[in-house]
Amino acid sequence: MSSATAAVDDRDQIRWVDNLPFWGVHVIAIAGIAWLGFSWSGVAIAAISYGVRLFAITAGYHRYFSHRAYKTSRPFQLVLAVMGLTATQKGPLWWAAHHRVHHKYSDQPQDVHSVRQRGFWWAHMFWILVKRNAGTDLDRVKDLAKFPELRFVDRHQIWFTVAFAVALYLVGGAHALVWGYFVSTVVLWHGTFTINSLSHVWGWRRYNTTDDSVNNPLMAILTLGEGWHNNHHYYQRSARQGFYWWEVDISFYILKLLEVAHVVWDVQGVPQHVRDHRPAAPVSADDIDAAVARAVTPGTTAS
Ligand SMILES: [Zn+2]
Ligand SMILES: [Zn+2]
Repeated sequence: MSSATAAVDDRDQIRWVDNLPFWGVHVIAIAGIAWLGFSWSGVAIAAISYGVRLFAITAGYHRYFSHRAYKTSRPFQLVLAVMGLTATQKGPLWWAAHHRVHHKYSDQPQDVHSVRQRGFWWAHMFWILVKRNAGTDLDRVKDLAKFPELRFVDRHQIWFTVAFAVALYLVGGAHALVWGYFVSTVVLWHGTFTINSLSHVWGWRRYNTTDDSVNNPLMAILTLGEGWHNNHHYYQRSARQGFYWWEVDISFYILKLLEVAHVVWDVQGVPQHVRDHRPAAPVSADDIDAAVARAVTPGTTAS
């Protein structure tokens, strides 16, 4: 992962057979709808499952584990990890390690998913399906890897997905399983993937960052606030990605509610000089390194 080059070799070949479960979930989702027939109750189950698990990805995997944009207790940190695992996007350590690489080298050759470097479909999903990106560089997530429970759930990620799917089946039979897991997960995957693909292509730029990130209100609605991606690349320390009141950011609103309930705290906002586009100092990718340094300082995070 820390290789300084992005030379294409056999580690960049898509492992079609190894990734049969990924394609299988797509097939079962489509076949399941054909078998059960369309239903609004199914859509409702899929939407609820999508919303809850997407929050775990946006507020948990992304804004907490990857960026350390707020603080929480060790138990709630584990809750976020387990909720995120049900989204079937690998574990929090893997997710955060790769996302930190994306910000550090955004749209440069070392970026793990860059439309500019490798094209749309690579950035959307092919980067996940290759050997090069299968492992986790623990050096990038020392602040997370120090927690044995996070290493455990990251290592046994598949069982949390299986448990979620079985629970849906036990509660609501095939109807709940197909809509609540298979259909919802496919939409959730591609909803998340669009942040790496469309959000570096389709929209407008408020900040002249060195990458191609853009803001897009439609993507922000569909992804609980992640579509304000240019804002986020410019000032990644903030737990808030919609910088103005009209930039809807549902993940941030839920985080503020959790802050009122004292479940999370030190939720980082947007300084006025950033919002006004008057940077007091250059804002760089070193933000993540600084956030991690703060996180590993005793007494400043979950302990
Ligand atoms: Zn990010
Ligand atoms: Zn990006």
